[in-house]
Amino acid sequence: MTAEKIHQKRARTKIVATVGPASREEDKLAELITAGVDVFRLNMAHGDLATHEQVLGRIRRLSEKLGRPVAVLADLAGPKIRCGEIPSGQVMCKAGEEFRFVRGDRSDKPGELTINYERLVDELRPGDRIMLVDGTIRMEVLDKTEDYVRCQVMQGGLLRSRQGVNLPGAKISLPAMSDTDREHALWAAKNGVDYVSLSFVRSPKEVTELKWMMSYHKSAAHVIAKIEKQEALDQLDAIVQAADGIMVARGDLGVEINITQIPVVQKQIVATCNRYDKPVIIATQMLDSMQHSRLPTRAEVNDIANAILDGCDACMLSGETAVGEFPVESVQMMNDVALVTEELFRDRPTAPPPIKLNENLRPVTQGVVFGAVHIAQQLKAEMIVVVSHGGATALSLAKRRNSTPIVGVSDNPETLRKMCLYWGVIPLAGAPTIDSIQLLEHIERWGLHEGNLNRGDYVVLVAGLGLASKGHNMVRVHTVGG
Ligand code: PGA
Ligand code: MN
Repeated sequence: MTAEKIHQKRARTKIVATVGPASREEDKLAELITAGVDVFRLNMAHGDLATHEQVLGRIRRLSEKLGRPVAVLADLAGPKIRCGEIPSGQVMCKAGEEFRFVRGDRSDKPGELTINYERLVDELRPGDRIMLVDGTIRMEVLDKTEDYVRCQVMQGGLLRSRQGVNLPGAKISLPAMSDTDREHALWAAKNGVDYVSLSFVRSPKEVTELKWMMSYHKSAAHVIAKIEKQEALDQLDAIVQAADGIMVARGDLGVEINITQIPVVQKQIVATCNRYDKPVIIATQMLDSMQHSRLPTRAEVNDIANAILDGCDACMLSGETAVGEFPVESVQMMNDVALVTEELFRDRPTAPPPIKLNENLRPVTQGVVFGAVHIAQQLKAEMIVVVSHGGATALSLAKRRNSTPIVGVSDNPETLRKMCLYWGVIPLAGAPTIDSIQLLEHIERWGLHEGNLNRGDYVVLVAGLGLASKGHNMVRVHTVGG
């Protein structure tokens, strides 16, 4: 029996896993990496910086030990609205009951609720909807005075202190980043985090400001815009162009817009990202039932497969890996569903070039990438190897959705970690990048040793002549052992 090749074991679709109490110990993190996690998400809305720093340290150590690049994404909470402290910790909101939202951050009077958004009382109008706990509880504004907004519960449920609030359609005047978000972004910059995502993005300007802030603090982190508001959908094209990547944040999006629109909107967002060669992550509830069950529902398995067929680069796990009972099984399941689904890419034509060239990518590079993909396809090459200093060339190759596995090498370890989010790109640490002969010898030794290559296989190299020089202008076909 021949050994399984790396691309037969590991999905090309990348897996983002949220770290939480169920996964933050060193041995669990190691198991998750082995099961197929490419990117760990630190949810900055929960936990303290000391804990995040500890987790980050563990991930970096494990990545070193296992010889596998792993990226870390710091997810900033952004202008998320939450209700305040409830004196007894929770309150049952029954349909038909009335509640008052009052100013301030705490009220001990029964029937009164507070919110961390000061202008709520000023901005709400009769008839407006207030959604709580991911849309489980729905209230409607009846009327208001100077001091409070009176609402009626239309759909009931249990409300706990500090749970999330959505005001669908309302224009929230909160800034894109709070002081806490800034502190978290600074922490991410100082600690060399690879990706930073911003929640509740409303405009391209908000994305540009975070990008500017990261580079001001000498961080190479890429910025992911989370699409979870109608306002973001209204400016989708510009936001996709401004961001380094996008997350379809279906949790809040499914409350902010009508939940029935989610499948269609997901397809639109993914298509837009693919037009601009931007990586896109599908998030939330992909294997929700696996929080408490070893097996997913048929619908969840379908959801993962369809997200991949839509053309996403990565699928994300939230509660499944953060607090669920089966974090490792969830990652294995996601990986296995992806492996089967990706078989369909064999017969798919190469994706067209982006409608607007990535600013980090020269037209010559673009042409060379396209040529390499076609050469690889025609020769049934076993592998495409790309030398990429900043990662843009590797991303461009990934976005062509070719069935040939891509191995990414770089002189920059940060770039190897960025590649963890790029579809089908296997980042390989420790490869020499100065000379193409040396590099191909290294790839050949590695490939034969790991069982990823056999004698006679073709390897297509995408590089620059004089490898260190800027820009890719060379495709070279290598025959293993030849
Ligand atoms: P969250 O973002 O988990 O940080 O809320 C994802 C989503 O809303 O889907
Ligand atoms: Mn969200």
